Amino acid sequence: MPVLPIVPDQAAPARDPRPGLAGLGGGELAAWFAERGEPAYRARQVSDAVWDRATTAVEDIRTLPAALRAALDAAFRLDTVGDTELRLSDGGLTEKGLHRLSDGALVESVLMHYPARGGQRERHTLCISSQAGCAVGCPFCATGELGFGRDLETAEIVDQVRHAARRLAADGRRLTNVVFMGMGEPLLNLDRVLAAVDALNDPRRFGLGARHITVSTSGVVPGIRRLTALGPPFTLAVSLHAARDPLRDVLVPLNRRWPVAEVVEAAREHAAATGRRVTYEATMIGGINDTETDARAMADLLRGDHAHVNLIPMNPVAHTPWTASPDEVIERFAAILGEAGVTATIRRNRGQEIGAACGQLAAERAGEPAPAVVARRRARLVDESAHALRGERSDEPVPAGVGE
Ligand code: SF4
Repeated sequence: MPVLPIVPDQAAPARDPRPGLAGLGGGELAAWFAERGEPAYRARQVSDAVWDRATTAVEDIRTLPAALRAALDAAFRLDTVGDTELRLSDGGLTEKGLHRLSDGALVESVLMHYPARGGQRERHTLCISSQAGCAVGCPFCATGELGFGRDLETAEIVDQVRHAARRLAADGRRLTNVVFMGMGEPLLNLDRVLAAVDALNDPRRFGLGARHITVSTSGVVPGIRRLTALGPPFTLAVSLHAARDPLRDVLVPLNRRWPVAEVVEAAREHAAATGRRVTYEATMIGGINDTETDARAMADLLRGDHAHVNLIPMNPVAHTPWTASPDEVIERFAAILGEAGVTATIRRNRGQEIGAACGQLAAERAGEPAPAVVARRRARLVDESAHALRGERSDEPVPAGVGE
């Protein structure tokens, strides 16, 4: 497992207050130049340079006079994301980036390469983070275990994309897809996520087609409704994991606030309004959510919908009592969905040996919790899932910060 340190670890400095240039709308930059008596085309020059893969420092923006470059550098950051570590796996097809932000917060992105196959062109898909940590607390997720750190700024989101695009450009390749499925719940940082999508989609900035952008949610119903009202035509992905409320209360704790039927209803409205198929994700956990009863419940829930289900074997996360479902169990699950007319794909888990499940690298840096803490967590999950499997709803509170 190659480990490539890009920048040595360092003590966390104070958060850099300068906004990131890639997160600014054209108007903000134009206003900054106007205040200095500069013409409006300066904003265009800077924006073009920011989105040029060759620009790595404000000093590279040679269309600006030196004095303006210095003033720009004092007011803004060209880069808000520092690569601390890049790990490769799957024979180089998966690249996991652990990024240190200016205040020391760690976030992850994963670049997955899919070689050309059959009539399909090669694809390069980047999975990005929208928050440092996550308040939702799904127990099978290393980020959920870390808890919530903070929302990312717009530039911190899009700079993950600029970094990956720059790495690809060095080999003459282009990023083809971006998915918001890394650390965090994107719809709990929705304003910044929407601004990031706008920057990625804008032909004069990153220029990625909306159909190549996927925003994932664990089921923040007001956020889904807001997206439906705004109507951006990107793909909505819903982390479903279970179709029965008692089990979903445990696997996706915000289900205690927005039950699964409400989530699917909101997703259905989104599909109807945008014409885009909704993707549902289900992490398959042996003996927990992979039974024929669960498959039938999911088939009943999604029957007749403009939807597709991805079944993903659980990544081995250290602090749960659970393991991935066996292949034949997932195949049976997919077959039951298929019999109900619900299409499903079994996805291979990329980069398991590099800890590619979201949050695993950051969790490694956070250090191993005390054995007693791990034992208590495992015992709680055994107890909660036993209740759920008896059909009892959770009486645990909605996680702080997700239910407003
Ligand atoms: S799976 Fe997603 S929503 Fe759940 S804790 Fe992890 S990052 Fe948050």
